[in-house]
Amino acid sequence: MSTSTNLPVPKVALAIGAHPDDIEFQCGATLAKWISQGAVVHQVVLTDGSKGSWDPDVDTEWLITERQVEQRNAAITLGVTGEVLFLGQVDGELRDTLELRREIALWIRRLKPDIVLGHDPWHRYRLHPDHRHAGWLTIDAVVAARDPHFYPEAELAAHRPSAILLFEAEEPDHVEDVTGYAELKIAALLDHRSQLRSTMGIDPDDDGTQAAAFRTRVLGKLTSDGRLARVAEGEAYHLIDRV
Ligand SMILES: [Zn+2]
Repeated sequence: MSTSTNLPVPKVALAIGAHPDDIEFQCGATLAKWISQGAVVHQVVLTDGSKGSWDPDVDTEWLITERQVEQRNAAITLGVTGEVLFLGQVDGELRDTLELRREIALWIRRLKPDIVLGHDPWHRYRLHPDHRHAGWLTIDAVVAARDPHFYPEAELAAHRPSAILLFEAEEPDHVEDVTGYAELKIAALLDHRSQLRSTMGIDPDDDGTQAAAFRTRVLGKLTSDGRLARVAEGEAYHLIDRV
């Protein structure tokens, strides 16, 4: 399988993630690069992130609000000027319902992205159900947004993105060269301060060792993804360019 590199910079891109922080982990550097080259980036976060803590006593209402703040801060770090939308589904209980597909499809019609980025639903042996459902919702919503006989009552013109980039790809075949954008990605990840311990392995009393290990982990992933296309740092995807 040959690996393609660097799509034309989109005018508008839409990233759809299951949880607050998924977008930064999976495509944060790509978004930062495109923004620096003039793209407008929008984000949709499907669930409320209310399971994202190891603390059994955490106030989940607080956590939901906090994670929205973190997502907005991370978006600012990446330079996002478009929408940051929260669809408010319960974390861990996301389902690919027709109602939610419609909601996402109508956002695609309103925002008119050239490129949609989302979870690869075909990624095998993945445990987290939200990522699977998020993947199906994303590609099914692209199809529904594209075809004019869906949702005539919404009175929104059909919109066909030119490409879908699936992250967490089962079969990566496309790399965006993000050399030079690693620091923005890491900074945006660290904006998710409620996730430092559970997701990034950084305890509150860390003397810097754990933060350094996390940084090494993120850089290592960028390097190994980049190797697929012989670039220094990359983010890898499965590209669907016949939408
Ligand atoms: Zn997630």
